[in-house]
Amino acid sequence: MYKDIRTFLHNELAEIESAGLYKNERVITSPQSAEITTGAKKVLNFCANNYLGLSNHPELVAAAKAALDTHGYGVSSVRFICGTQDLHKQLEAAIAGFFGTEDAILYASCFDANGGVFEPLLGEEDAIISDALNHASIIDGVRLCKAQRYRYANADMSELEEQLKKAQAQRFRLIVTDGVFSMDGNVAPLDKIYRLAEQYDAMIMVDESHSAGVVGRTGRGVTELHRLRGKIEIITGTLGKSFGGAIGGFTTGKKEIIDLLRQRSRPYLFSNSIPPMVAAAGIRMFRMMDKTNELQDKLHWNTAYFIQKMKDAGFDIKPTESAICAVMLYDAKLSQDMAAQLQEEGIYVTGFYYPVVPKGQARIRVQISASHEKEHLDKCIAAFTKVAKVLNVIK
Ligand SMILES: *Cc1c(COP(=O)(O)O)cnc(C)c1O
Repeated sequence: MYKDIRTFLHNELAEIESAGLYKNERVITSPQSAEITTGAKKVLNFCANNYLGLSNHPELVAAAKAALDTHGYGVSSVRFICGTQDLHKQLEAAIAGFFGTEDAILYASCFDANGGVFEPLLGEEDAIISDALNHASIIDGVRLCKAQRYRYANADMSELEEQLKKAQAQRFRLIVTDGVFSMDGNVAPLDKIYRLAEQYDAMIMVDESHSAGVVGRTGRGVTELHRLRGKIEIITGTLGKSFGGAIGGFTTGKKEIIDLLRQRSRPYLFSNSIPPMVAAAGIRMFRMMDKTNELQDKLHWNTAYFIQKMKDAGFDIKPTESAICAVMLYDAKLSQDMAAQLQEEGIYVTGFYYPVVPKGQARIRVQISASHEKEHLDKCIAAFTKVAKVLNVIK
């Protein structure tokens, strides 16, 4: 049998390659940071989700090391058999405290949190109304659930209203949105979504993966930005971006929802607990955030500075309210050439084009971090300007 499928797989791979969509992995030999080593080269990293610069923070590393000694390396169990340590409970309480919610439940990833949130809560007689640009894990989670599916164009409130009207016959309605959309950096209009949810009797779920730690004055996410703390039924998020970047995800929100997920959510019931060192570092991280907004303030300053300077240099930047800055180039090949030349200049960024973004919307996505110093930002802006002049992107 394998002989036949091998030929088939060869062809599939060749097709991916000839379409220019083959993904190569770049090997990094240093910790994740503003400056990383890849190959023999040191480059400034502008494409990590390391928004608060915590991926290699000494306090988190120390907390993880200490937990190795006190709690061991792994737990070899799912949570409800013998995989719940005091650290897991403390981390869940810290997450709920951070978001101003009633309770939280940990998963191995946010992919799992989103995969396991819909099916236990909603059935055939219910409705899920989902933003068209929601993350792949939300789309997969919705697929696992029998609820009726409705979709609205990205952040389009008149389409959302239309879909809510259509869904009035259903028993329960849940509107689902990313907090920040990762390709443009725009924030979900949660204030308007909330008003529509009240008007048409629906619940809301927000995935704060790209917004937690970033959006809102103290980085509490989209619910802080729109003054809706504690008012949203379900929030999901990741520990793999702003929050230290290791691994882990969570769902947080109304107590009864979290209670039922502990009983019925399949990725929680049938997958291992996160390692104690990850839980311990997470607890330390939330404690740091309770004490100071230093990192969030620095990230906000860095982002505003970078965007203003790039606009001044003549770049076409998508409107953003996050630490994601999409430098629009429109042409696919140009986005790849420019990213390659920036790499030569010591700036590591990625160019995106169809099908990751719509046709004719190719871009370079820059992600700003609190670990960037002003000199890093200036170096990045200078490199962009130099390369863009050569490629006739700006004058
Ligand atoms: C990154 C991301 C995820 C996946 O998080 P993991 O913890 O890495 O699985 C889910 N949803 C959104 C919106 C994301 O940006």
